[in-house]
Amino acid sequence: MEQDEKTAEKFSSRCLQPAVETYIRLSLVPEVVDEMMSGNDSVDFSTRMFFQYSVLKDLLSKDKFCLFIEYTSSYEKFIRGWIQEKIEEHFSDGTKLLELEDKYLKQCIRCIEYGIQKAHVNKEATQKEFVQDICKELGNKLVMSQDALSTCMALLKEATAEKFANSLKKSVKEMEKALQKKQKETGFKAKLDGLGSKVLNNLTVKLGGCGEKCPFCSAPCEAGAVAHKVHRVEIHRPEGLGGYRSASMKLITSICTSSVSTDMRFSNRDTKGLWHPYKEFKTFYKNWEISADKSYTTSDYWKYVMVKFNEDFAEFYDAEPANIPTEWRTISKEDADKSLKEAFGVI
Ligand SMILES: [Zn+2]
Ligand SMILES: [Zn+2]
Repeated sequence: MEQDEKTAEKFSSRCLQPAVETYIRLSLVPEVVDEMMSGNDSVDFSTRMFFQYSVLKDLLSKDKFCLFIEYTSSYEKFIRGWIQEKIEEHFSDGTKLLELEDKYLKQCIRCIEYGIQKAHVNKEATQKEFVQDICKELGNKLVMSQDALSTCMALLKEATAEKFANSLKKSVKEMEKALQKKQKETGFKAKLDGLGSKVLNNLTVKLGGCGEKCPFCSAPCEAGAVAHKVHRVEIHRPEGLGGYRSASMKLITSICTSSVSTDMRFSNRDTKGLWHPYKEFKTFYKNWEISADKSYTTSDYWKYVMVKFNEDFAEFYDAEPANIPTEWRTISKEDADKSLKEAFGVI
């Protein structure tokens, strides 16, 4: 191999290739997020509400305490794991990722070829000037390592760039082929891992909400992804699901909206174990809005969960099982599913 060919190959593999790979990776992040949120899947990620519905529906179909408790006690961790699983399921056949990678690879190659062509207009340019012109042209799109670039620059000669330009065109073609091969051979999991935590962070923020939980029932705040000062929940749950108990250590079945309309008191870590009136919950939770409403009871979904896992929740929270209202016991899994659909307006 001639010196020019060697240098061209080096410039292509050490400067251009890593920059192309980074560009493809960065471009894939929003594509994967969009793809997940497009709604063309069994699980609907298109809005925060549909997402919440999908999670709760999945929990009900699996009907396992270990999943419900992880969801209620470590909401953010749970949904991160859940979203990750769905991303992997969605991209597991590899075709979509390959298609996206190829789209951005072709885009980069077109840009590089255009850069070479443009730099080559100046027939008098030395090799060094030629490469500098290419770098200037690609600067906005491809970020090359300055170290690798100066190593390559040192190898360039004062001679005109004619032969070098032809060698570089060949090297770029070879690089394209090598990258296509690499893309075909790399598994979908390694590709998703290669995108880092950006996709997951992005989807968790968009779909999971602000991460705050109702101080009593642990339901996640539903105020949306936009920054907000006041947290709120539409459908509160039996407080026992958040570990609340009566003075006799029994988990309680009442829900937050009705508790704050009574003279009942609560105690927890924030009150340092002292009993504090629900009505004055703002003393401890000033950013929460829980409107007093006696008429409202929780959904059949959460009643079903509370009945089914009463003993498990009690054990987990080191409390006594709740006194379950008799009529709750007749609620079936189908009733729970129906109430979930109604709550989210799904037909
Ligand atoms: Zn609540
Ligand atoms: Zn919030």
